[in-house]
Amino acid sequence: MNVVHIINEALSSKRTRFAFELLPPLKGDGMQKIFGAIDPLVPFDPAYINITFHREGIKETELPDGGIEWHVVRRRPGTVGISAAIRQRYGIEVVPHLICGGLSKYDIEDTLIDMDFLGLHNVLALRGDKSQNERRFMPHPQGHAHAVDLVRQIAAMNRGEFVDGEVEECHHSKFSIGVAGYPEVHFEARDITSDIRHLKEKIDAGAEYVVTQLFFDNRKYFDFVRRCREAGIEVPIIPGIKPLSTLRHLEVLPETFAVELPEELVREARTHPDHVREVGVEWAIAQSRELMAAGVPVLHYYTMSRTNNIQQIVKAVF
Ligand code: FAD
Repeated sequence: MNVVHIINEALSSKRTRFAFELLPPLKGDGMQKIFGAIDPLVPFDPAYINITFHREGIKETELPDGGIEWHVVRRRPGTVGISAAIRQRYGIEVVPHLICGGLSKYDIEDTLIDMDFLGLHNVLALRGDKSQNERRFMPHPQGHAHAVDLVRQIAAMNRGEFVDGEVEECHHSKFSIGVAGYPEVHFEARDITSDIRHLKEKIDAGAEYVVTQLFFDNRKYFDFVRRCREAGIEVPIIPGIKPLSTLRHLEVLPETFAVELPEELVREARTHPDHVREVGVEWAIAQSRELMAAGVPVLHYYTMSRTNNIQQIVKAVF
């Protein structure tokens, strides 16, 4: 089933569901760890599961003559394969992420064809971040500079238009496309107005729902939704929630995701340094309850593939 149908069903039945996001296994790991992260959440009836997509990294090796050799490495390949394995094992819809970074339009098309053959008809279309050795995001020479172009490619493929032209009498894919939105503004955007204008371009290009960057202050989400509606964005906007789990998060999360942590949360975490995980769970439960009361159709939990705190949250909330 297309995820947008699941979201719309949740909206019309006024029953909030939850989804969660996992990383594909590290290269060399099997699937057991990821299944071990999913198993305890299955009894709570997740609406769907997202699987992130990771671009290549660069590894430096020093040669005996003092020179440097660069290798392209992929630490977490396998987004499509693990998505199909999860869908088959649990019968739960899976949303593989797909990025522009490091991929040509042809690579993207091949990936989408594999997804379609494997019964994966949902995709979260993203630009991705710069690679380690870049100062800013550089598109692949035959790829896309922005997520909107990826959305256009997927929507065109749904109409039977491929990168090298139309195929007569072809099979039409039916991808349901989600995109990312930023309640606290994307770090490269000029301002919130231009960021929301670009978000609207993604919707106009064929995206059917938005998943937000993580945030810790629900007022930021409510304000973002209001601004999006004023800008003519009518699709569901799924809030992204990440429970704080280590003291290090107090520095890392604002730096990595360009988000602010509320003073009260920081104070609680610093006052109880041995119980940060519990503080994070309590905060996420309160956030979830308020968002549910406001009628959001789905709560999207970021997990980094460790789900015991998500278990505690969904047990308390659903
Ligand atoms: P875009 O929509 O292209 O926006 C990027 C920036 O460009 C914004 O500042 C925007 O305002 C601006 N912009 C957009 N369109 C235009 C235009 N036409 N002209 C000029 N400026 C424009 N990253 C991964 O690598 N893998 C993942 O699996 C992954 N999953 C994610 C899931 C969610 C829910 C979220 C919120 C983010 C995820 N990311 C992931 C991170 C994401 O790739 C980064 O935040 C990235 O920097 C931006 O991606 P985007 O799709 O929002 O890009």
